[in-house]
Amino acid sequence: MKEIPDILWLEEIRKEDIAAVGGKGASLGEMSSIGLPVPGGFVVTSHAFRQFLIETGIEQNLFEDLERLDVDDNRALEQAAKKAKNAVMKVKMPVKLKEKIKEAYNRLDSGNMVVAVRSSATAEDLPDASFAGQQETFLNIRGEKALLDAVQKCWASLYGARAIYYRAKQGFDDRSVNIAVVIQQLVNSEKAGVMFTSHPVTGEQLTIIEGSWGLGEAVVSGSVSPDKYVFDQRTGKVIDRLIATKKIEIVSDRDHGTKTLEVDTARQDAPVLSDSEVTRLADFGKIAETHYGIPQDVEWSIVGNEIFILQSRPITTIKRVAPPARTEAGDAQIIVKGQGASPGMAAGRVIIVRDVKDAGSVKEGDILVTKMTNPDMVPAMRKVAAIVTDEGGMTCHAAIVSRELGTPAVVGTRTATSVLKEGQLVTVDGEKGFVYDGVLEQPAVKAAPAAGIAAAPLITATSIKVNVSIPEAAERAAATGADGVGLLRIEHLILGLNRTPGWFIANNREEEFIQELYRGIKIVLDAFYGKPVWVRTLDAPTDEFRNMEGGGDEPHEHNPMLGWRGIRRDLQSPDQFRLQVEAFRRLWDQGYDNLGVMFPMVSHPDEFVAACRMMEECGVDTRKATLGIMIEIPSSALLIEDFIKAGIDFASFGTNDLVQYTLAIDRNNENVATMYQPKHPAVLALIDSAIRVCRENGVECSICGQAGSEPPMVEWLVEHGISSVSSNIDAVAKIRETAARTEQRIILESARRLNA
Ligand code: PEP
Ligand code: MG
Repeated sequence: MKEIPDILWLEEIRKEDIAAVGGKGASLGEMSSIGLPVPGGFVVTSHAFRQFLIETGIEQNLFEDLERLDVDDNRALEQAAKKAKNAVMKVKMPVKLKEKIKEAYNRLDSGNMVVAVRSSATAEDLPDASFAGQQETFLNIRGEKALLDAVQKCWASLYGARAIYYRAKQGFDDRSVNIAVVIQQLVNSEKAGVMFTSHPVTGEQLTIIEGSWGLGEAVVSGSVSPDKYVFDQRTGKVIDRLIATKKIEIVSDRDHGTKTLEVDTARQDAPVLSDSEVTRLADFGKIAETHYGIPQDVEWSIVGNEIFILQSRPITTIKRVAPPARTEAGDAQIIVKGQGASPGMAAGRVIIVRDVKDAGSVKEGDILVTKMTNPDMVPAMRKVAAIVTDEGGMTCHAAIVSRELGTPAVVGTRTATSVLKEGQLVTVDGEKGFVYDGVLEQPAVKAAPAAGIAAAPLITATSIKVNVSIPEAAERAAATGADGVGLLRIEHLILGLNRTPGWFIANNREEEFIQELYRGIKIVLDAFYGKPVWVRTLDAPTDEFRNMEGGGDEPHEHNPMLGWRGIRRDLQSPDQFRLQVEAFRRLWDQGYDNLGVMFPMVSHPDEFVAACRMMEECGVDTRKATLGIMIEIPSSALLIEDFIKAGIDFASFGTNDLVQYTLAIDRNNENVATMYQPKHPAVLALIDSAIRVCRENGVECSICGQAGSEPPMVEWLVEHGISSVSSNIDAVAKIRETAARTEQRIILESARRLNA
């Protein structure tokens, strides 16, 4: 049998060497041997560890103690673990081995290199058994002494209580379990993340890369919303970029491993990767996928111009959706039904999130199942293939955010968190509102029109705008060709900060709050340069603020929907209103005259007048500014003429609320969802008369509620003279088509009447 050396360099290692170097060592060696840019290093082999146990004379007692141990006796387990670890730590490492490790280390950057020291456990009889995460890793190690100490600590970690317990329960004999130690250049990445070398659910030839600033830990742990890039391997082009606001970064901290810092303002919204970096990463991904013959989940990092590949392992989700499991939709069993809130179909494995603290375990391609999403869950919502909730309707948080992310969603199922099982494979149809058991055949993708015969763009007299809630959706929204933004909900910017406006005021951090608003709104204004963007002032009910820092001061209301929200609250909280106006004023001063401001939950013209007065006090010339109201309360529809006299420039129907306040139907209550009817005659009567008055007075009249994304309603609105319609991103195209067809029909009918 070949003698195993004490030290092996990564580039000499192949995957067959797993018994000597453990799974981690073998994988890094294999990657380095196929030309992937793995940070340099070497492995102190399992052979060296065995020699250490023998030469120091501790082997015998150590194993005898472990053999006698009853691992179910907690106290005895803790004591045995402590004793075994002490035994490994207190003996001196044999001099010859010490010298070999030092010599190898000194070959790395003349002994000055900062390294990571990682355990890589292995079992003689089952070398590829996984002991991942049970032994320790030490980062930021520099110098011979610290290195030798870290190696010995890695060895000792083989005898942690959890590791001993796990091996005993899995039937591993401790005598046959070894540990190798990987010593590798620590890459202090400036940016890092993960890459799927093929689509994690469908297996399509799309490379999906997520990245953020600092160490990759921030992305892997889900503590930051990373940028997302999609690279099409067939065309060699980057076809999608979702640039997130990256608020924190994890960086290495000399003494304490790592620390979390706030990302400076300039980098928060800046793209992490250039197209050429995406392409280079995708190329490395392809090398790994081709070599291993199966799509890979790769960890990468970048320092300056240099790319490093830190880890590559098979994507398990693709394997899980293997063809035999597939069924036709017709044969499939619907296990949960709800409202289709964001169109599209996706299959994947269920992950149930009962507490936002667990959202970090959500992985790319999972199906997120939860009672109701909230702003803290947005990073997880970005990763998943589909979202299913127990509660909510078409206008709940889950529905609004998933539509903007383009993620299929079914809401208001009542039972998803109890019927669906963790890990179950399901297919979500976000159009029909169904969740099927198993993985369905995807419906054929509609063929794109052949080059050269693309349809002419539709021109409509009715402006077709789009709703935006999260700035990162601004580019997608603008790509629809919409004529502007008919509603930008700024509370989603604030809710993401996880601190109430009151907290910023009470802690003298007002400038931060203004900056956050300024930045978020500016992203949308820039994406819609030259087109109107109506930004709505804060409208979050008190219960949505309660879980945030500062939320303890929020009043408990019997019915928050009818409570202290919208303009009512702002008028009684001048400080909160002033901060918003300051952000608007700065944007107007910067020349963003496409910014219009819209007041929510207005019930009387006096409120509009009072809001204007407060804006004047903040230095806004309200005669120049474009200001309008939402029509969400029947009173504002009935008093529209008085609002016009008070000086509004526009009005927009917030039918989500107008329906609930006209019909007394809670919009978020799935028990009465079937009675929630935007086309109820009473609602239509209010809308009809308000449109008429607006038209007579030359005031723009629009809609930004969910009903503006529904073709039959839009047909009716166009027939009744609405000036603009603002719909969800996914609905813009069909709404434009509906408006065009309706307008043509009206013209045709009137021509026929004239000719009759
Ligand atoms: C509405 O009420 O229709 C509306 C668009 O506002 P929100 O859904 O934010 O209450
Ligand atoms: Mg509303």
